[in-house]
Amino acid sequence: MDYDTKDFIEAQLGSYHAFYTLMRSRANLGYLRTDNESWQRLTPYIILGRYKSDEFGGCHRLNRALFTDADRTAMSAVMNEEEFLSFFEKNIQPRIKKSYWSSLEGTSGLAPGFPLPEPHLICAKCGGTWEINTCHDIDAEGDFEEIDLSSFAGRTLFWVQAKLEARTDALRRFGHPITVRNPQWSDPRAADDEYADPEELGWREVTLDHVVQPGDKTSMFRYRFYHGPCFRQLSIDRSGERATEYAEDFKQILEETGFEDVQVIRTALPEHLRRWFATDLDEGESIDELAEAFMYYRVQTRQGSFGVAYAAYPMLDLEGSGVSLHELEPELAAEAPPDFPPITGLSGPEQLLKLWQLLVKNQSKK
Ligand SMILES: [Zn+2]
Repeated sequence: MDYDTKDFIEAQLGSYHAFYTLMRSRANLGYLRTDNESWQRLTPYIILGRYKSDEFGGCHRLNRALFTDADRTAMSAVMNEEEFLSFFEKNIQPRIKKSYWSSLEGTSGLAPGFPLPEPHLICAKCGGTWEINTCHDIDAEGDFEEIDLSSFAGRTLFWVQAKLEARTDALRRFGHPITVRNPQWSDPRAADDEYADPEELGWREVTLDHVVQPGDKTSMFRYRFYHGPCFRQLSIDRSGERATEYAEDFKQILEETGFEDVQVIRTALPEHLRRWFATDLDEGESIDELAEAFMYYRVQTRQGSFGVAYAAYPMLDLEGSGVSLHELEPELAAEAPPDFPPITGLSGPEQLLKLWQLLVKNQSKK
């Protein structure tokens, strides 16, 4: 089959499965054998306005942030590099003001070497499959998974590998070398020794011929794939969970310090802090993005109210508390510029106790 002509490629774009097979075949091929039995490089093509298949069959994604649905529709389904370059210069570059080299996107999190999920895999959030018209908007996460091999006892790892590859929830790969741990191989004297070497803890290097024994465990690379919108929702959910955890932890710390009737309520970054942070943005950074990344809380207690913000580290915001920065952190206040907001890094229980005392003192004045 000729994987190197526009006609052939165009005929493979009827479904995600066919598109995947095409891209995978070109990647496996790497080079093309010509009629006179020598090898030649493949012709690079930009396919569906979504991926590029390069001269070695390497699969690269076009930058999702730069190309719109309208761009993708305007592009021919299969373009050679020259056609793509001229389209880019005419339609994309004037708008984004970035060079051709920005047109490809990295594949962070995606399985190494090939950034498309195999068709049998499903989205790890919604369980759905992949569509050809949204296959550019896919994210992935790689991590390690501890696998108890006991249920495969008596089978080779080669057999296990095939079984695990057939699963639809994630792509799994053995490490190099493959290591298996079994308690019967471990040295009981090493059990509580954190400096024990892996062999003493029962780890052994094996090959795919290894026949699984009861008690065998291994650790595998696991790649889970997500639809772009599903992945973005997952990130929002996780950051919401993190925000709730911070609020709960902080409430507990305040109660341990002596604050009473504590409520920690998440709100948007208040105006006085937006103004201050807007004066010191990195190039390309916007205050809206920065404000989004902050987790800001208003804290109400019987002793008084103040704010706490979590960015790279937690900060106390004294605005509205009746306590000045000068009272809480005189050294910082002495060095701060005149327009500096009343914020300070949250340093620990002693600082919170001092804040408690200052708030109580203010209350008794009233
Ligand atoms: Zn999904």
